[in-house]
Amino acid sequence: MPEPGATIARGTVLSFAGGDYEILLDDGRIVAGRLRGRLKLEARTGDRVVAGDRVRVHEPANGSTTIEAVEPRRSQLIRRAPGHARRAKVIVANADQVVAVVAVAHPEPHLRMLDRLLVLAGSSGLPAIIVVNKTDLAAEPDVRARFAAYPAAGYDVLFTSVLEERGIADLRQRLCGRESVLTGPSGAGKSSLLNSVEPGLGLRVGAVSAAVHKGRHTTVTARLIPLATGGFVADTPGLREVGLWGVDTGTLDTLFPEFRDRLGTCRFARSCTHTHEPDCAIREAVDEGWIDRERFESYAAMREAG
Ligand code: GDP
Ligand code: ZN
Repeated sequence: MPEPGATIARGTVLSFAGGDYEILLDDGRIVAGRLRGRLKLEARTGDRVVAGDRVRVHEPANGSTTIEAVEPRRSQLIRRAPGHARRAKVIVANADQVVAVVAVAHPEPHLRMLDRLLVLAGSSGLPAIIVVNKTDLAAEPDVRARFAAYPAAGYDVLFTSVLEERGIADLRQRLCGRESVLTGPSGAGKSSLLNSVEPGLGLRVGAVSAAVHKGRHTTVTARLIPLATGGFVADTPGLREVGLWGVDTGTLDTLFPEFRDRLGTCRFARSCTHTHEPDCAIREAVDEGWIDRERFESYAAMREAG
């Protein structure tokens, strides 16, 4: 029971470290708080309060701020521990979309990694936007050809250059008022893009996900960056090791949007794994050029690793 003189406020969890939560209250203040009783117990059993959670905060007249309650989540981005399908970890709560950033070069795009991120987003029910950055480093037709499989599969793909200020307004519009999980390899330009979208942020280039380099505590906890235009960008260092999470092989094919129309039309219908069966509609579509072969190979690799 809140004592007299205490106030109750609502807010959004920005980050969590060493038992302390950083909370952006709806009135604009940022406060530090800890979990109260029952919530602490739930945190120990694995269902922790994470960045993105909407919480009710108790601010006593004197004493420390506590998180009293958590609202039901609109979405959760989940990472499954390999081999422990049940031991899922919520990385961020209430995200609206995943924004996967890759560079045309420096670093070279790793499309298998991108495909795994897209599957991760899909398996959490989140739409994904692909940002192809550093388009100033190659000729436009080559860049478009390299990534052609993605718009064809139905993904929203933005071509950007921080250097030439290309595509920045489009990215700003996508981020505005939403909670976006920003991910992609180090050096792809995530910090630079955010600074360009919102010059006031003043992120150090290389600042996004820098925490992952700090030490042995490679963390999967996220940090939310509030945007002046409304909305948040979630920085999720743990998503970098996407090679590590397990996928549910049974539904993996549904997470490749370009497969969807054909699923069920293989000779073995929904039990077809599309890897070796005769009369497989997916492999036929690959041979006929309807489905991109590299995307199919990503599927097959994930299916095997799963
Ligand atoms: P992050 O690790 O994903 O946050 O990447 P950074 O934002 O730190 O950028 C890594 C490097 O790429 C920096 O040297 C940036 O100046 C550079 N960079 C970022 N965006 C672009 C771009 O659009 N074009 C070029 N040529 N370089 C860029
Ligand atoms: Zn098949």
